[in-house]
Amino acid sequence: MPEPALENDAYEVLTEKKEECGLFGIFGDPDAVQKTYLGLHALQHRGQESAGIASSDGQFIQCYKGMGTVRRVFRSGSDTLERLKNPIAVGHVRYSTTGSSKVVNSQPLLAEYSRGQVAVAHNGNLINAGLLRDEYEAYGSIFKSTSDTEVIVHLLAKPTHQSKPDSLGHVLNHLQGAYSLIFLFADHIEAARDPFGIRPLCIGQTEEGHYVVASETCALDAIGAKFVREVEPGEIVRLDKYGLHSRFFVRRESVTPAHCIFEHVYFSKQNSLIFGENVHGLRKKLGRQLAREHPVEADVVIPVPDSGTSAAIGYAQESDIPFDMGLVRSHYVGRTFISPDQKLRELEVNLKLAIIKEVVHDKRIVVVDDSIVRGTTTRGKIRVLRQAGAKEIHMRVSCPPIRFPCHYGVDFPTKEELLANDRTLEQIKEFLEVDSVGYLSLPGMLSCAALPQDHYCAACWSGRYPIPVDVALNKFSMERYQLYMFEEFATANE
Ligand code: SF4
Repeated sequence: MPEPALENDAYEVLTEKKEECGLFGIFGDPDAVQKTYLGLHALQHRGQESAGIASSDGQFIQCYKGMGTVRRVFRSGSDTLERLKNPIAVGHVRYSTTGSSKVVNSQPLLAEYSRGQVAVAHNGNLINAGLLRDEYEAYGSIFKSTSDTEVIVHLLAKPTHQSKPDSLGHVLNHLQGAYSLIFLFADHIEAARDPFGIRPLCIGQTEEGHYVVASETCALDAIGAKFVREVEPGEIVRLDKYGLHSRFFVRRESVTPAHCIFEHVYFSKQNSLIFGENVHGLRKKLGRQLAREHPVEADVVIPVPDSGTSAAIGYAQESDIPFDMGLVRSHYVGRTFISPDQKLRELEVNLKLAIIKEVVHDKRIVVVDDSIVRGTTTRGKIRVLRQAGAKEIHMRVSCPPIRFPCHYGVDFPTKEELLANDRTLEQIKEFLEVDSVGYLSLPGMLSCAALPQDHYCAACWSGRYPIPVDVALNKFSMERYQLYMFEEFATANE
């Protein structure tokens, strides 16, 4: 059996929210593969279940992928990166949203069809993937994976789609849902974003002039590339030996964007610029607005690291209460292999999220977190703060209560499992065992963002989905046959 992914386990204990994949692609750079590797490292926060790189010498594509973090898949000492060395490359880090976490569903997804090879990297969730798959299976298509992404390859290969003047644009018009995509063909790259621009995707350029596409600008920073612009919703950009070319597969004015504002609240990295503004800056604004909406008398403001830190700084600045670090997260502790006993599990959490007793003892503290999903993880942190001698604990959350599932690529638990689903604020306060609780309002959150309020998706708070969802998919919607269990077993024993 393969070893477990240590970094991922450490992450599991500390958060209830899971990211949804990161993409990177670069054209024409002699160090394309190494830069893809660095770019994927910078995007590691978007997915830790699997990682992969596909590269091309202009004629043939080769691909290497595996389970775990980038560091684990491309181990130091192995010659994988050297063997992949080519001037065109795309990479992917995954957290599974449709299709369970196994190597057959890892990406880039490499396939061959009548026009040659293609490797696909996808961030998002196709809400009509089940219907499309049914349709293709009815005509005899055979699927190798259980991920939603594979339907795109089948759409590409369909002869009537290939005969269209813009076959890729034609294919994308069949997809519904959230998708930022990078396609590696043998001699060029194409990157596309869904018409609503739900997930981010940006363009950069290296000092030597080579074009790059990535989920977030933090990946451009990691390789010293400058930010050029975002890929527009409904746009396809082509990177080839002639440079960068743009075209649109929908009429631009026909769709109002629906950028996922949770990217700003939690998913994206603080140093990234997405949807036109810096993530850290917006999170600080959320914290300031939170302080205006839910003031409290206290001695110190502490963040739940790392994603609550920027909002906590904003809260402290606005409320004039000192900011301090009461919780310290260890990035180095992996799976401890202790028994699943509750008491020992709590100790494990303590190991990964340590308390600075001197900061919290005998203090009235404001704890700022970016969001709460089930609430059990948050309650665990509150308990250890209480044990460390906190006199009062006031929970402040820099987004509204999450009451609805996401169908566009974020793996929240079911509606029934969400803390705020059927609880009043008073019941949430009791559940969390805090002295008070305050969530940022929906108008307050949207007022902090730079774009018009109707340019964001906020469906997990409001229940108003920008793309109607007829049949909700979950991670296992396409796990239809026992066959896959045997396949996974075989893969694990290779
Ligand atoms: S439902 Fe929530 S997490 Fe999903 S895309 Fe919309 S804002 Fe983002």
